Amino acid sequence: MQHAIRGVPASPGIVHGPVHLLRWEVPDVRHRIIADEAIPDELDRLHDAMARAKDRLRKVRDRVERRVGAKDASIFEAQLLILEDPDMLAEIEDWIRQNTGAEKAFDLVMVEQRQRFARHELPMIRERVGDLTDVHIRVLSILLGLADHDPVDVPKGAGAVLVTHDLTPSLTVQLDREAIAGIATDAGTRTSHVAILARSLGLPAVVGLRDATQRVRVSDSAILDGTRGLLAINPTADEVDGYRTRAIREAESEAELSLLSGEEPLTRDGVRVTLRVNIDIPEDAEAAALSGAEGVGLMRTEFLVIGRTDMPDEDEQYAAYRKVVDAFRGFPIVIRTYDIGGDKLPVGGYPHEPNPFLGWRAIRMCLDEPELFRTQLRALLRAAVHGDVHILLPLIVSLEEVRQARALLEQAAAELRERGVAHRADVPLGVMIETPAAAVVVDTFVDDVAFFSLGTNDLVQYTLAIDRGNANLVSRFTPLHPAVLRLIRRTVEVGAASGVDVAVCGEMASQPLTALVLIGLGVRQLSVGARSVGRIKRLIRSVDAAALEEAALAALALDGPAAVEADLSRRLAGAGVDPALVRDVLPSLSDGDIISLLERS
Ligand code: PEP
Ligand code: MG
Repeated sequence: MQHAIRGVPASPGIVHGPVHLLRWEVPDVRHRIIADEAIPDELDRLHDAMARAKDRLRKVRDRVERRVGAKDASIFEAQLLILEDPDMLAEIEDWIRQNTGAEKAFDLVMVEQRQRFARHELPMIRERVGDLTDVHIRVLSILLGLADHDPVDVPKGAGAVLVTHDLTPSLTVQLDREAIAGIATDAGTRTSHVAILARSLGLPAVVGLRDATQRVRVSDSAILDGTRGLLAINPTADEVDGYRTRAIREAESEAELSLLSGEEPLTRDGVRVTLRVNIDIPEDAEAAALSGAEGVGLMRTEFLVIGRTDMPDEDEQYAAYRKVVDAFRGFPIVIRTYDIGGDKLPVGGYPHEPNPFLGWRAIRMCLDEPELFRTQLRALLRAAVHGDVHILLPLIVSLEEVRQARALLEQAAAELRERGVAHRADVPLGVMIETPAAAVVVDTFVDDVAFFSLGTNDLVQYTLAIDRGNANLVSRFTPLHPAVLRLIRRTVEVGAASGVDVAVCGEMASQPLTALVLIGLGVRQLSVGARSVGRIKRLIRSVDAAALEEAALAALALDGPAAVEADLSRRLAGAGVDPALVRDVLPSLSDGDIISLLERS
């Protein structure tokens, strides 16, 4: 083996395959002065490159249309239109006629266009910046003769390991699951949305590898271990064999876990926990329903719009929500209104913001765009006729937002009533507790909402002021910080005192050690990724809630996350909790471990 790179385990599973290195970045372009006689040839080069880019885009569009649908393919239609813009072409040709090389001429015009679009007052125009960037990269790559990194070029059945800096929405919709077996990115963390999407797609993924794109070459092969967060480049035949054995063992252990799907998540001392599942893509609902989860604790609806240039209308959304409702008939289904913003932006982006996580995100955007919000609310009220739908509001910081949202919900119901469309008006409304503000004033919500859902990914981010998507801060992103635990405990206490249900739908619920702490803090509803349902259920069935409560309450009084982790390990071991079950999804490997792990496997 040449080397192993350690990253963040983002989506479980092990694969071995050829590396597909994708550098989807605007390349650097040198200024090249051309002689007068070279101008006609340079114009030909430009026209030829643009024609080839168009040809390729048509192929991508057709392929995405066949595989995913016309709506998702519309991104590429928009990009084709850019390449057909006669004014833009005339500007580029002008630069060439002024003795500038074709690639620099193209680059200058695209940079200028992107800046102009990004500053435009109309959101519709601003949204086109992402398309311009894709076109910019595509044409320059052809003009500069760079290796063709187009994801669509991976042959079916290649089982390739995609290595890229970050996944953009337009790249994501192009991913061919029959060609790409795993994803490795320089950027990202477990809770960044690339990771969430990879888990939904069922593709093993390692993120936060920092410089993987610099360290692999196109001709390399790699083992990608999404369970432990490793990318091993050019493994030896023995290492590949070892990893195959491990992959088989993992699959066997998954199969064993699935046998638990009919069992109850009951602790040894009889405390019943409700285990629900998080759904990001409606198409995943049927498979997720087989996991043994008792409903959906969080459906993230923003994935309906990511990777698209337009917003889904009411009917399309209704159909998407119905799919989930039908798959989980009889169980509660919590559907969250759009959490657009942060690192979840539709194609082309919304206004460029210096601090998107502190910006125009989630409920803020929805309240400012009432048409868009009411369209979603109407679709939800219609879907609620067919099942036990609950509506969840993201990123709430004050009761005023809840009241404004409720007014829009009532308006949406009135609109449906006027149109004579079947709907349910009395859908339970809940709020995400994912900001310190919401947790501190959680008592003010109790008369206005039916449930709280703790979004610990953001709660940790905002409480500790640590960007959840920053690979350099992964070790500091510590959900066991007493400040986080105290905010959770406060929410649980307020919920219990006022009869408001409290659930956790952030990543803390899916990780064994933190799931145990949550139960210890009094949380009785957990919503986890589909692949964690069996694992967390097995864990719950192996512990006493009383011991967890003692350990969690002690943690509240400690002075830092390291002290909490050490104290918990000691107490859980003392209470007879199987450390193998706790360690399962929380690997903390040192570089030495990586090598020994590779040697052992
Ligand atoms: C969270 O913040 O914990 C959460 C569940 O929401 P998201 O990860 O979509 O921000
Ligand atoms: Mg959140």
